[in-house]
Amino acid sequence: MTTNPKFNAKPAFLDGSVKKMLIDGRWVEAKAGRSFETFNPATGELLARVAEGDAEDVDLAVAAARRAFEGPWRSFKPNQRQNLILKLADLVSQHYEELCVLDTLDMGMPIGRSIQNRERVVGSVRYYAAQAMNIHGETIESSLDGEFFTAALKEPIGVVGAIIPWNSPLFATVKKISVALAAGCTLVLKPAEEAPLTPLRVGELCLEAGIPPGVVNIVSGFGETAGARLSAHPDVDKIAFTGSHFTGQKIIRASAVNVKKLSMELGGKSPNIIFADANLDKAVPGAAMATFNNAGQICCAGTRMYVERAIYDEFVARVAEFGSKMRVGNGLDLQTQMGPLVSTEQLTRVTDYLKIGQQEGAEAVTGGQRLTEGAFGKGNFVPPTVFRNVSDNMRIAREEIFGPVISAIPFDTVDEVVQRANDTPFGLGGGVWTRDVGKAHKVARRIRSGTVWVNAYNVMDPSVPFGGYKMSGFGREGGVHHVDEYLQTKALILNTD
Ligand code: ADP
Repeated sequence: MTTNPKFNAKPAFLDGSVKKMLIDGRWVEAKAGRSFETFNPATGELLARVAEGDAEDVDLAVAAARRAFEGPWRSFKPNQRQNLILKLADLVSQHYEELCVLDTLDMGMPIGRSIQNRERVVGSVRYYAAQAMNIHGETIESSLDGEFFTAALKEPIGVVGAIIPWNSPLFATVKKISVALAAGCTLVLKPAEEAPLTPLRVGELCLEAGIPPGVVNIVSGFGETAGARLSAHPDVDKIAFTGSHFTGQKIIRASAVNVKKLSMELGGKSPNIIFADANLDKAVPGAAMATFNNAGQICCAGTRMYVERAIYDEFVARVAEFGSKMRVGNGLDLQTQMGPLVSTEQLTRVTDYLKIGQQEGAEAVTGGQRLTEGAFGKGNFVPPTVFRNVSDNMRIAREEIFGPVISAIPFDTVDEVVQRANDTPFGLGGGVWTRDVGKAHKVARRIRSGTVWVNAYNVMDPSVPFGGYKMSGFGREGGVHHVDEYLQTKALILNTD
């Protein structure tokens, strides 16, 4: 195993104690005294016990967030909020390696990859810090009789419930916290039960940054209890959710109780379209990593790989070869390119789809079965898998697998591939690979999804909005659009006579 001492040391955070929740600036156990276990998906080892917050704890956290919102936090000026977020960015940067190790231990992400994302993660926090001083409404020329000053003001929406998934715990946590702070909101964040450690460690950094008590609360616990209570809580003004569309639908229903504002970043089955005139030396690794990145556990993964028929055989063979050469293993090894799946449930789900694909008549050119030999047997390892002979109506071409599985499908014409690419209930990501700028532009405009990459995939910029069409959700993360999701608009009509 190739290591770096910085990544090898067991983080001091994992000191054997039960990890507590952050409520009102204090670290507390669950009121009911319960805790749950979190495991290393590469080895099966127990990492820590974590406080299992439920409805009672969520209520306490929401009350603390409300008090902070109505109290001291309201008087924080944009520049003061900016300074706090910048301080948090500095601390995240300072502890970046440790935070990456926690992500790797808790959910498997290869450290060689996460370490390269420093700028994306820290830069994103700094981006929101800048946005704290970029909140402005507008004045409106009034047509009313008499003298009026009319304006649309922007105000923070209030108490936010942020419910995050396990696939990128550090990034999801810092993004959800910093955008809420930029807008002047307070929040209760519920990490995923599969990967609660990094979010809790970020909670410590929030306190170190001087973020006042109650502004950031972190309640670890299960979706059906803590998450459900947060979604249905009458005193939560907004839910910012990232996760599966099944859970998204439950949250939408629960949030009706007080007509909460919502943003939903849900799943996808994104098309990645490879034209014969593409630069194949770039498109092969690009198309492979569009799905194999983070073991396919990425909501916008380009899992439906449409390949122009003239190059189908060659291209599919090259992507499969790329996949077969990827180093699968423990994410702590710097050489590892693909780590384990997050949990045994996820392993079952993905291996079920591998069987379904084969039963449906698709052929696994590479991969296709769980890895069990030696150390692999202790973890949740599935190798990069490329299916050929896939048709649009197969389940592996329609349903989100959330694993390292590419469905390769041939196509003949532009109109046909656009129609087939759009024939899905989802609309999160999409890719087009071609040297023809006109064609790239036309296809990109016609794909119905929140992001389309051309001759690239999965590249994210904090200034650029990200989110879904159709069942991939609504609301945007990233860019000024993101901050707006946390703001309310108030009309001011002032008679100045
Ligand atoms: P996955 O199925 O991949 O674990 P989920 O969408 O279920 O993804 O999980 C994303 C987040 O949603 C997690 O924090 C999880 O605890 C939470 N969650 C799950 N079920 C519910 C629910 N009924 N209400 C609110 N949050 C939930």
